[in-house]
Amino acid sequence: MATYTASSIARVSACPSSEALPHVRTAVSPEAERGTAAHEFLFRLHNGELREDALAAVPEAHREYCASIALQPVPGAIAEVPVAYDVLRRSARLLNVSNRAYGQLAASEVAGTCDLFIPAPPGGVATVVDWKTTHDVEGMERYTPQLEFYALALARAHHVAQIRYEIVAIDERGQPHFVIQRELDFEDLEAIAERLAQAHRAVGVALAAAGDHLLRSAAPWAPSVTEGDHCRYCPAWRSCPAKRAVLDAVGRTPEPNGATYLLVQDLERWAELGREKLREAVREGGPLPIDEQRELRFNQRGALQIARRREA
Ligand code: SF4
Repeated sequence: MATYTASSIARVSACPSSEALPHVRTAVSPEAERGTAAHEFLFRLHNGELREDALAAVPEAHREYCASIALQPVPGAIAEVPVAYDVLRRSARLLNVSNRAYGQLAASEVAGTCDLFIPAPPGGVATVVDWKTTHDVEGMERYTPQLEFYALALARAHHVAQIRYEIVAIDERGQPHFVIQRELDFEDLEAIAERLAQAHRAVGVALAAAGDHLLRSAAPWAPSVTEGDHCRYCPAWRSCPAKRAVLDAVGRTPEPNGATYLLVQDLERWAELGREKLREAVREGGPLPIDEQRELRFNQRGALQIARRREA
C-alpha cells in the first residue's frame, strides 16, 4: 500500500517531500470529531436506518448538530465505498473492508473511502459525493484532488469512461451547499491518472532521498518543499524546513526551559500583531492578494481566511 491515502492526495501532489519527512499525528480536533459523527449519521441514514436511530448512534456531544443536517438519503446510493486505485497499473478495485482498515495492498495501490456513490441513472453517468462539514463553505476547491481520485478510482472499478463528482459542504447550521459539481470524460480521467502517477513517482524519489540522507548525515533532512493550502493538515508540519525556519529563535535554545516559554510568548504576540495589521488592511481595502490564485479575506464569521481569488 502507498504510504498515503486519498485524503492526502492534494498535499502529496503539491509537496511530495512531505511524505518523506517525519510525521507526527496531532490529537483529533473537536471539528474533526463532529465531522466523523456527521459522516456516521449520514452513512446510517443511507443504510436505511430511521433518523432517530441514526441520531442515537452518534456521540451525544454531536447529536444536535447531526439532527440539524438538512440532507435526505439518496435512493439507490451506496455510502462509504472503500476502493484501491493502482497508480502504476491504472486500474482499481472495490475493497470489502470497513472502518478504513484497508489491509494488504500493493505498494502502488492508494486506498480511500468515498462517502457516497450514486449509480448511473438510465442514460446518465454515476456520481461520487463527498460531504465536508465546515465553516468555510467557499474553501472547498482544495478538496478537488481527493474527489478526482475517487472519481477516477470508481470509474475504473466500474469500467465507465465518464463520471461526475460533487462536493457537499455542510455548514455549522447543518445546511448543505452543493458547491462543486463536475463531470469528467475519458480525457479528464486520463489526465488525473497521469497526475497521480507523477505524484507517486515524486514521493518515491523523496523517500529514496530521505533514506540516502539518513545513511550519510545525522542532521535533519531539509528537502525543498512547497507551501500552500495543503499544509493545513500536513503530518510533517513540525519537521518541515519551511515551517521550522519561522521557529529558528526558539529552536536555538539548547534545552527546553522556562525561558523558551518567553520566546514562544513573544512569537505569539508578533503573530497577533501581524494578524491585527492584516485585519485592518482587509477591513479598509478589501481582500489582499496572496498569489495568482489566492487572496486573504474575511469569511462569514468575520475571521481572516485564505480563499480562491474572485474575479475583479
Ligand atoms: S507543511 Fe511543509 S512539508 Fe507539509 S505540505 Fe506544507 S510545505 Fe510541505
